[in-house]
Amino acid sequence: PNPTSYIPNPWYNTCMSIQVLTAQLASQIAAGEVVERPSSVVKELVENALDAGAATINITVRGGGRDLIQVADNGAGIAASEIETAFLRHATSKLSTADDLAAIETLGFRGEALAAIAAVSHVTVVSRTAAEDAGTRLQLEGGEKISRELVGAPQGTVIAVETLFYNVPARLKFLKSITTERRLIDEFITRMALAYPQVRFRLTHENRITFQTSGSGDLQEVLGEVYGADTARQLLPILPDDRSQDAATGEPRTITVTGFAGPPGLNWANRSRIILFVNGRWIKDSSLSYAVIQAYHTLLPTGRFPFGIIFITMPVADVDVNVHPTKIEVRFQRPNRVFSAVQRAVRETLIAESPVPAVSSWSMGTSGAGGWTPAAARALTTPRETDQGALQLDWSSHAADVTLPP
Ligand code: ADP
Ligand code: MG
Repeated sequence: PNPTSYIPNPWYNTCMSIQVLTAQLASQIAAGEVVERPSSVVKELVENALDAGAATINITVRGGGRDLIQVADNGAGIAASEIETAFLRHATSKLSTADDLAAIETLGFRGEALAAIAAVSHVTVVSRTAAEDAGTRLQLEGGEKISRELVGAPQGTVIAVETLFYNVPARLKFLKSITTERRLIDEFITRMALAYPQVRFRLTHENRITFQTSGSGDLQEVLGEVYGADTARQLLPILPDDRSQDAATGEPRTITVTGFAGPPGLNWANRSRIILFVNGRWIKDSSLSYAVIQAYHTLLPTGRFPFGIIFITMPVADVDVNVHPTKIEVRFQRPNRVFSAVQRAVRETLIAESPVPAVSSWSMGTSGAGGWTPAAARALTTPRETDQGALQLDWSSHAADVTLPP
């Protein structure tokens, strides 16, 4: 045989024997999945605050999150007897059986976040429940407890995360600029403010309040804070669908779509203004984004994308949120139904709000773009439009007074 075909691995003799990783190293490795960057810490802490029923959430950031991320809430708090457990891996109060996993109603459930965050930073938590007279302060370094004491504290939880990734130089090296990290944090907080208009959010960077909402529950008001009053005024509330049956299948309707759609005159060169939530959870789903885009079929120039903020409410058992550690992608049991519910809701809103419906040669059924079956087209047209056999939406009057935010 060719003597070069066997090349002994020079590493082999110096390799270590097989060993179980220390708990600390294992959590550092696992932490990488959940805590990719500062904005992931903000996401996990804010989701915990929401799960705890907070009405007010204050987020304080320094150095784009590398120096400090602090999230203070007035939610249920963590009991003194459980505060250390909360930082153990796979410790959660939100799930106890496999059946629970099929019907998750909270944003968190994997019991990973606090352990992951603590493994790669210095954490100080102060928390008090309604039933306790005093709060507890716990300090951890790389996940190890360094102090614990009783303190005076209001009900709720404050978690401060400092020197993120201090012990993971590889991760630190790959962090983007402070500006990038800030932008990701800002985007996340504004999305959460949109999904939870009844919660009062306040975001502070370097001691300056950069964004806040009143918690009044008025989504349009939050839209004004995020996109400017001018844009918010033009947005069309998605028409409620009060049919009890799914128009396509005749089955009982289980999906509700609410939110706002922009008039066609308000459009962008990318999809970044199409924002989707399922049961209060922000998701990325290119197929559902496409459902929104399709609803604007022929109303937008090619290469332009609409504004849509879409809240989908559906039975928790029909959507699997346990697909990815960050829970940003979900899996629907019947994706086509969700797709058509979104497309229909937006389309009907556009048709109903069309200022001057006029007749022309536009025909919905024959575009060949996919998705628009003649039946779907019929379901979307009003009797008057059906009479004419075609429908033209005239948005030119609206488009004229649209100003695009930067
Ligand atoms: P998960 O959210 O998946 O349960 P976490 O590691 O994020 O896991 O949190 C662990 C547990 O700590 C939660 O289940 C909850 O009981 C408690 N907890 C975390 N943050 C808060 C908070 N802000 N308010 C009240 N309880 C909290
Ligand atoms: Mg959590």
